[in-house]
Amino acid sequence: MMSTVSYLDHNATTPVLPAVVEAMVDALRSTGNPSSVHRSGRNARRLVEAARDQLAAAVNAEAGNVIFTASGTEANNLALRGLDRAPIIVSAIEHDSVLKAGDAPLLAPVDRNGVVELAALRELVETHRPALVSVMLANNETGVLQPIVDVAKIAHDAGALVHCDAVQALGKAPVDFKALGVDMLSLSAHKIGGPQGVGALMVRDGIDVKSLLRGGGQEKRRRAGTENVAGIVGFGIAAGQAKDHLLVSGKLADLRDAAQSRLKALAPGARIFGDAVTRLPNTLCIEMPGVAAETQVMALDLAGVAVSAGSACSSGKVATSPVLRAMQVEEAVASCAIRISFGRGNSMADVDRLVQAWGALLARHGSRLVRPETAA
Ligand code: PLP
Repeated sequence: MMSTVSYLDHNATTPVLPAVVEAMVDALRSTGNPSSVHRSGRNARRLVEAARDQLAAAVNAEAGNVIFTASGTEANNLALRGLDRAPIIVSAIEHDSVLKAGDAPLLAPVDRNGVVELAALRELVETHRPALVSVMLANNETGVLQPIVDVAKIAHDAGALVHCDAVQALGKAPVDFKALGVDMLSLSAHKIGGPQGVGALMVRDGIDVKSLLRGGGQEKRRRAGTENVAGIVGFGIAAGQAKDHLLVSGKLADLRDAAQSRLKALAPGARIFGDAVTRLPNTLCIEMPGVAAETQVMALDLAGVAVSAGSACSSGKVATSPVLRAMQVEEAVASCAIRISFGRGNSMADVDRLVQAWGALLARHGSRLVRPETAA
Protein backbone atom coordinates (compact mmCIF):
# COMPACT_ATOMS: atom_id res chain seq x y z
CA MET A 1 0.00 0.00 0.00
CA MET A 2 1.23 3.49 -0.85
CA SER A 3 1.98 5.60 2.21
CA THR A 4 0.04 8.84 2.75
CA VAL A 5 3.15 10.97 2.39
CA SER A 6 5.88 10.59 -0.18
CA TYR A 7 8.79 11.76 1.95
CA LEU A 8 11.40 13.12 -0.44
CA ASP A 9 13.38 15.28 1.98
CA HIS A 10 16.02 12.89 3.29
CA ASN A 11 18.76 15.53 3.17
CA ALA A 12 16.78 17.43 5.84
CA THR A 13 16.38 14.38 8.05
CA THR A 14 15.79 10.64 7.71
CA PRO A 15 13.29 8.22 9.27
CA VAL A 16 14.83 6.61 12.34
CA LEU A 17 15.74 2.96 11.63
CA PRO A 18 13.75 0.33 13.57
CA ALA A 19 16.93 -1.20 15.04
CA VAL A 20 17.94 2.27 16.24
CA VAL A 21 14.63 2.79 18.02
CA GLU A 22 14.93 -0.59 19.74
CA ALA A 23 18.47 -0.02 20.92
CA MET A 24 17.66 3.49 22.10
CA VAL A 25 14.61 2.36 24.08
CA ASP A 26 16.76 -0.26 25.81
CA ALA A 27 19.37 2.38 26.61
CA LEU A 28 16.74 4.79 27.93
CA ARG A 29 15.40 2.07 30.19
CA SER A 30 18.78 1.57 31.83
CA THR A 31 20.07 4.11 34.33
CA GLY A 32 23.66 5.22 34.45
CA ASN A 33 26.00 8.14 33.93
CA PRO A 34 29.03 7.04 31.91
CA SER A 35 31.26 8.97 34.32
CA SER A 36 30.02 7.08 37.40
CA VAL A 37 32.30 4.34 38.70
CA HIS A 38 29.60 1.93 39.91
CA ARG A 39 28.12 -0.87 37.85
CA SER A 40 25.30 1.25 36.37
CA GLY A 41 27.80 3.86 35.30
CA ARG A 42 30.11 1.27 33.82
CA ASN A 43 27.23 -0.17 31.85
CA ALA A 44 26.43 3.26 30.37
CA ARG A 45 30.13 3.72 29.57
CA ARG A 46 30.15 0.38 27.78
CA LEU A 47 27.24 1.49 25.60
CA VAL A 48 28.98 4.74 24.68
CA GLU A 49 32.27 3.00 23.89
CA ALA A 50 30.56 0.35 21.75
CA ALA A 51 28.92 3.13 19.73
CA ARG A 52 32.27 4.89 19.43
CA ASP A 53 33.76 1.71 17.94
CA GLN A 54 30.83 1.37 15.51
CA LEU A 55 31.14 4.97 14.34
CA ALA A 56 34.92 4.77 13.97
CA ALA A 57 34.61 1.53 11.96
CA ALA A 58 32.00 3.10 9.66
CA VAL A 59 34.43 5.81 8.51
CA ASN A 60 37.77 3.97 8.83
CA ALA A 61 38.92 5.86 11.90
CA GLU A 62 40.08 4.83 15.38
CA ALA A 63 37.80 5.03 18.41
CA GLY A 64 40.17 7.61 19.91
CA ASN A 65 39.44 9.96 17.01
CA VAL A 66 35.73 10.30 17.92
CA ILE A 67 34.32 13.21 19.93
CA PHE A 68 30.55 12.90 20.41
CA THR A 69 28.64 16.19 20.20
CA ALA A 70 25.00 17.27 20.30
CA SER A 71 24.71 17.82 16.53
CA GLY A 72 26.54 18.16 13.25
CA THR A 73 26.30 21.90 13.84
CA GLU A 74 28.20 21.56 17.12
CA ALA A 75 30.81 19.33 15.48
CA ASN A 76 31.41 22.00 12.84
CA ASN A 77 31.63 24.72 15.50
CA LEU A 78 34.06 22.64 17.54
CA ALA A 79 36.27 22.11 14.50
CA LEU A 80 36.36 25.77 13.56
CA ARG A 81 36.39 27.34 17.02
CA GLY A 82 38.12 24.70 19.13
CA LEU A 83 41.58 25.14 17.65
CA ASP A 84 42.02 28.87 17.96
CA ARG A 85 43.50 29.00 14.51
CA ALA A 86 43.02 31.84 12.04
CA PRO A 87 42.42 32.72 9.33
CA ILE A 88 39.64 30.32 8.44
CA ILE A 89 39.12 29.56 4.75
CA VAL A 90 35.83 27.88 3.79
CA SER A 91 34.19 27.10 0.48
CA ALA A 92 31.37 29.44 -0.51
CA ILE A 93 28.82 26.60 -0.46
CA GLU A 94 29.27 25.41 3.11
CA HIS A 95 26.39 24.81 5.51
CA ASP A 96 25.61 27.77 7.78
CA SER A 97 27.13 25.91 10.73
CA VAL A 98 30.50 26.22 8.97
CA LEU A 99 29.98 29.58 7.25
CA LYS A 100 28.96 31.24 10.50
CA ALA A 101 31.23 29.35 12.91
CA GLY A 102 34.44 31.22 12.21
CA ASP A 103 35.02 34.94 12.56
CA ALA A 104 35.17 36.61 9.15
CA PRO A 105 36.07 33.50 7.14
CA LEU A 106 37.69 33.88 3.74
CA LEU A 107 35.56 32.31 1.00
CA ALA A 108 36.97 29.95 -1.61
CA PRO A 109 34.77 30.24 -4.73
CA VAL A 110 33.06 27.38 -6.55
CA ASP A 111 32.55 26.97 -10.30
CA ARG A 112 29.17 26.93 -12.06
CA ASN A 113 28.77 23.24 -11.26
CA GLY A 114 29.25 23.92 -7.56
CA VAL A 115 32.74 22.42 -7.25
CA VAL A 116 35.34 24.31 -5.22
CA GLU A 117 37.95 26.07 -7.39
CA LEU A 118 41.23 24.46 -6.40
CA ALA A 119 43.47 27.12 -7.95
CA ALA A 120 41.69 29.85 -5.97
CA LEU A 121 41.89 27.75 -2.82
CA ARG A 122 45.62 27.23 -3.33
CA GLU A 123 46.16 30.96 -3.66
CA LEU A 124 44.18 31.63 -0.49
CA VAL A 125 46.04 29.07 1.65
CA GLU A 126 49.40 30.20 0.34
CA THR A 127 48.64 33.87 1.01
CA HIS A 128 47.11 33.36 4.46
CA ARG A 129 49.35 31.04 6.46
CA PRO A 130 48.85 28.96 8.52
CA ALA A 131 45.13 28.68 7.91
CA LEU A 132 42.33 26.32 8.86
CA VAL A 133 40.47 25.14 5.75
CA SER A 134 36.94 23.72 5.78
CA VAL A 135 35.35 22.16 2.70
CA MET A 136 32.35 19.82 2.76
CA LEU A 137 32.35 16.35 1.21
CA ALA A 138 28.84 16.58 -0.29
CA ASN A 139 26.66 19.65 -0.60
CA ASN A 140 23.28 19.45 1.12
CA GLU A 141 21.36 21.30 -1.63
CA THR A 142 22.82 20.01 -4.87
CA GLY A 143 24.50 16.80 -3.64
CA VAL A 144 27.69 17.82 -5.50
CA LEU A 145 30.79 16.01 -4.20
CA GLN A 146 33.96 17.98 -3.52
CA PRO A 147 37.55 16.91 -4.32
CA ILE A 148 38.54 16.58 -0.66
CA VAL A 149 41.72 14.56 -1.21
CA ASP A 150 43.03 17.40 -3.42
CA VAL A 151 41.81 20.03 -0.96
CA ALA A 152 43.67 18.29 1.88
CA LYS A 153 46.89 18.06 -0.14
CA ILE A 154 46.79 21.70 -1.20
CA ALA A 155 46.06 22.83 2.36
CA HIS A 156 48.70 20.65 3.98
CA ASP A 157 51.34 21.72 1.46
CA ALA A 158 50.76 25.28 2.68
CA GLY A 159 50.90 24.28 6.34
CA ALA A 160 47.13 24.55 6.86
CA LEU A 161 44.87 22.19 8.79
CA VAL A 162 41.79 20.75 7.09
CA HIS A 163 38.27 20.10 8.30
CA CYS A 164 35.61 18.36 6.22
CA ASP A 165 31.85 18.44 6.87
CA ALA A 166 30.79 14.93 5.82
CA VAL A 167 27.31 15.20 7.34
CA GLN A 168 25.49 14.71 4.02
CA ALA A 169 27.88 12.16 2.60
CA LEU A 170 27.73 9.38 5.19
CA GLY A 171 25.48 6.55 4.03
CA LYS A 172 25.22 8.00 0.51
CA ALA A 173 28.88 8.08 -0.58
CA PRO A 174 32.01 6.36 0.77
CA VAL A 175 33.48 8.24 3.73
CA ASP A 176 37.01 7.17 4.73
CA PHE A 177 38.61 9.42 7.33
CA LYS A 178 42.12 8.16 6.67
CA ALA A 179 41.93 8.07 2.87
CA LEU A 180 40.46 11.58 2.70
CA GLY A 181 43.56 12.80 4.52
CA VAL A 182 41.74 15.46 6.53
CA ASP A 183 42.51 16.45 10.12
CA MET A 184 38.88 16.69 11.28
CA LEU A 185 35.58 15.38 9.95
CA SER A 186 31.98 16.15 11.05
CA LEU A 187 29.10 13.67 11.11
CA SER A 188 25.45 13.79 12.22
CA ALA A 189 23.22 10.89 13.30
CA HIS A 190 19.89 12.06 11.91
CA LYS A 191 21.04 12.08 8.29
CA ILE A 192 21.69 8.32 8.41
CA GLY A 193 18.66 6.91 10.20
CA GLY A 194 19.83 7.83 13.69
CA PRO A 195 18.23 10.28 16.12
CA GLN A 196 18.27 14.07 15.88
CA GLY A 197 20.52 15.88 18.34
CA VAL A 198 23.67 13.74 18.12
CA GLY A 199 26.78 14.37 16.08
CA ALA A 200 30.48 13.66 16.14
CA LEU A 201 33.74 15.30 15.26
CA MET A 202 36.50 12.92 14.21
CA VAL A 203 39.89 14.40 15.09
CA ARG A 204 43.26 13.11 13.93
CA ASP A 205 45.75 12.13 16.66
CA GLY A 206 47.92 15.01 17.75
CA ILE A 207 45.36 17.74 17.07
CA ASP A 208 44.47 19.49 20.27
CA VAL A 209 40.80 20.52 20.19
CA LYS A 210 39.58 22.54 23.18
CA SER A 211 36.05 22.11 24.51
CA LEU A 212 33.73 24.97 23.58
CA LEU A 213 31.63 24.27 26.68
CA ARG A 214 33.05 24.76 30.13
CA GLY A 215 32.30 22.12 32.69
CA GLY A 216 33.20 18.47 33.09
CA GLY A 217 36.03 16.58 31.47
CA GLN A 218 33.94 14.33 29.23
CA GLU A 219 35.17 13.15 25.85
CA LYS A 220 38.79 13.47 26.99
CA ARG A 221 38.21 17.12 27.95
CA ARG A 222 37.15 17.97 24.41
CA ARG A 223 33.39 18.22 24.97
CA ALA A 224 32.01 18.99 28.42
CA GLY A 225 28.57 17.68 29.40
CA THR A 226 27.09 14.28 30.28
CA GLU A 227 26.90 12.16 27.16
CA ASN A 228 23.53 11.59 25.47
CA VAL A 229 23.83 7.85 26.00
CA ALA A 230 20.66 6.74 24.19
CA GLY A 231 21.32 9.11 21.30
CA ILE A 232 24.90 7.92 20.99
CA VAL A 233 23.75 4.30 21.04
CA GLY A 234 21.34 5.10 18.20
CA PHE A 235 24.11 6.85 16.26
CA GLY A 236 26.32 3.76 16.61
CA ILE A 237 23.64 1.41 15.28
CA ALA A 238 22.83 3.74 12.38
CA ALA A 239 26.53 4.12 11.54
CA GLY A 240 26.86 0.33 11.55
CA GLN A 241 24.24 0.21 8.81
CA ALA A 242 25.69 3.06 6.75
CA LYS A 243 27.63 0.65 4.53
CA ASP A 244 24.43 -1.32 3.81
CA HIS A 245 22.83 1.95 2.79
CA LEU A 246 25.57 2.43 0.23
CA LEU A 247 24.53 -0.87 -1.33
CA VAL A 248 21.16 0.63 -2.25
CA SER A 249 22.68 3.76 -3.79
CA GLY A 250 22.02 2.30 -7.25
CA LYS A 251 18.31 2.11 -6.46
CA LEU A 252 18.35 5.70 -5.18
CA ALA A 253 20.07 6.86 -8.34
CA ASP A 254 17.43 5.06 -10.43
CA LEU A 255 14.65 6.90 -8.58
CA ARG A 256 16.45 10.23 -8.80
CA ASP A 257 17.29 9.81 -12.48
CA ALA A 258 13.71 8.77 -13.31
CA ALA A 259 12.36 11.82 -11.46
CA GLN A 260 14.89 14.06 -13.19
CA SER A 261 14.11 12.92 -16.71
CA ARG A 262 10.34 12.95 -16.19
CA LEU A 263 10.30 16.45 -14.66
CA LYS A 264 12.57 17.64 -17.42
CA ALA A 265 10.17 16.19 -19.99
CA LEU A 266 7.39 18.25 -18.41
CA ALA A 267 9.46 21.44 -18.40
CA PRO A 268 12.31 21.13 -20.89
CA GLY A 269 13.61 24.58 -19.92
CA ALA A 270 14.01 23.67 -16.24
CA ARG A 271 17.56 23.98 -14.94
CA ILE A 272 19.05 21.15 -12.92
CA PHE A 273 21.91 22.06 -10.62
CA GLY A 274 25.04 19.97 -10.31
CA ASP A 275 24.05 17.31 -12.84
CA ALA A 276 27.19 17.80 -14.94
CA VAL A 277 29.45 16.59 -12.12
CA THR A 278 29.48 13.77 -9.55
CA ARG A 279 26.57 14.09 -7.13
CA LEU A 280 25.09 12.10 -4.30
CA PRO A 281 22.84 9.43 -5.84
CA ASN A 282 19.73 10.59 -3.97
CA THR A 283 19.69 14.36 -4.59
CA LEU A 284 17.97 16.41 -7.26
CA CYS A 285 17.98 20.20 -7.22
CA ILE A 286 15.69 21.48 -9.98
CA GLU A 287 14.00 24.69 -11.03
CA MET A 288 10.35 25.00 -12.07
CA PRO A 289 10.61 28.01 -14.37
CA GLY A 290 8.59 30.97 -13.13
CA VAL A 291 7.15 29.27 -10.03
CA ALA A 292 8.56 30.30 -6.64
CA ALA A 293 10.11 27.50 -4.60
CA GLU A 294 7.76 28.18 -1.65
CA THR A 295 4.75 27.79 -3.95
CA GLN A 296 6.09 24.46 -5.16
CA VAL A 297 6.82 23.22 -1.65
CA MET A 298 3.29 24.11 -0.50
CA ALA A 299 1.55 22.66 -3.56
CA LEU A 300 3.56 19.45 -3.33
CA ASP A 301 2.83 19.24 0.38
CA LEU A 302 -0.91 19.46 -0.32
CA ALA A 303 -0.47 16.60 -2.77
CA GLY A 304 1.32 14.54 -0.10
CA VAL A 305 4.88 15.08 -1.34
CA ALA A 306 7.51 16.43 1.09
CA VAL A 307 10.41 18.33 -0.50
CA SER A 308 12.26 21.49 0.48
CA ALA A 309 13.08 24.88 -0.93
CA GLY A 310 16.85 25.06 -1.10
CA SER A 311 18.32 24.22 2.28
CA ALA A 312 15.46 24.07 4.75
CA CYS A 313 17.47 22.78 7.67
CA SER A 314 16.77 25.83 9.75
CA SER A 315 13.60 27.50 10.98
CA GLY A 316 11.55 26.99 7.81
CA LYS A 317 12.96 30.25 6.50
CA VAL A 318 12.90 30.70 2.76
CA ALA A 319 15.66 32.83 1.31
CA THR A 320 17.40 32.46 -2.01
CA SER A 321 20.01 29.79 -1.67
CA PRO A 322 23.56 31.10 -1.09
CA VAL A 323 24.74 27.82 -2.62
CA LEU A 324 23.06 28.56 -5.95
CA ARG A 325 24.16 32.18 -5.72
CA ALA A 326 27.77 31.01 -5.28
CA MET A 327 27.27 28.90 -8.43
CA GLN A 328 26.36 32.17 -10.21
CA VAL A 329 22.76 31.12 -10.78
CA GLU A 330 20.57 34.17 -11.48
CA GLU A 331 18.31 35.18 -8.59
CA ALA A 332 15.13 34.64 -10.63
CA VAL A 333 16.15 31.07 -11.39
CA ALA A 334 17.51 30.25 -7.92
CA SER A 335 14.28 31.39 -6.27
CA CYS A 336 12.41 28.71 -8.27
CA ALA A 337 14.68 25.80 -7.26
CA ILE A 338 13.56 22.98 -5.00
CA ARG A 339 15.52 20.11 -3.49
CA ILE A 340 14.20 16.58 -3.82
CA SER A 341 16.14 13.97 -1.83
CA PHE A 342 15.33 10.25 -1.91
CA GLY A 343 15.94 7.63 0.76
CA ARG A 344 15.74 3.90 1.37
CA GLY A 345 11.98 3.77 1.92
CA ASN A 346 11.11 5.39 -1.42
CA SER A 347 9.85 3.60 -4.51
CA MET A 348 8.83 4.46 -8.08
CA ALA A 349 5.32 5.17 -6.70
CA ASP A 350 6.80 8.19 -4.91
CA VAL A 351 8.35 9.36 -8.17
CA ASP A 352 4.93 8.97 -9.87
CA ARG A 353 3.25 11.07 -7.20
CA LEU A 354 5.95 13.76 -7.41
CA VAL A 355 5.78 13.97 -11.20
CA GLN A 356 1.98 14.07 -11.16
CA ALA A 357 1.83 16.88 -8.56
CA TRP A 358 4.66 18.88 -10.10
CA GLY A 359 3.12 18.59 -13.57
CA ALA A 360 -0.30 19.70 -12.26
CA LEU A 361 1.23 22.77 -10.63
CA LEU A 362 3.16 23.63 -13.77
CA ALA A 363 -0.03 23.35 -15.81
CA ARG A 364 -1.93 25.55 -13.33
CA HIS A 365 0.67 28.23 -13.73
CA GLY A 366 -0.03 28.10 -17.44
CA SER A 367 3.57 27.70 -18.36
CA ARG A 368 4.17 27.54 -22.05
CA LEU A 369 6.83 25.00 -21.26
CA VAL A 370 4.25 22.29 -20.55
CA ARG A 371 4.25 19.61 -23.17
CA PRO A 372 1.55 17.12 -22.22
CA GLU A 373 2.52 14.75 -25.01
CA THR A 374 5.90 14.18 -23.33
CA ALA A 375 4.51 13.90 -19.82
CA ALA A 376 5.12 10.49 -18.32
N1 PLP B 1 26.29 20.12 7.64
C1 PLP B 1 25.48 19.85 6.60
C2 PLP B 1 26.08 19.72 5.23
C3 PLP B 1 24.12 19.68 6.80
O1 PLP B 1 23.34 19.41 5.75
C4 PLP B 1 23.59 19.81 8.09
C5 PLP B 1 22.14 19.69 8.34
O2 PLP B 1 21.34 19.79 7.47
C6 PLP B 1 24.47 20.08 9.16
C7 PLP B 1 25.82 20.24 8.88
C8 PLP B 1 23.99 20.26 10.56
O3 PLP B 1 23.74 19.03 11.19
P1 PLP B 1 22.75 19.00 12.43
O4 PLP B 1 21.36 19.09 11.88
O5 PLP B 1 23.03 17.69 13.10
O6 PLP B 1 23.08 20.15 13.30
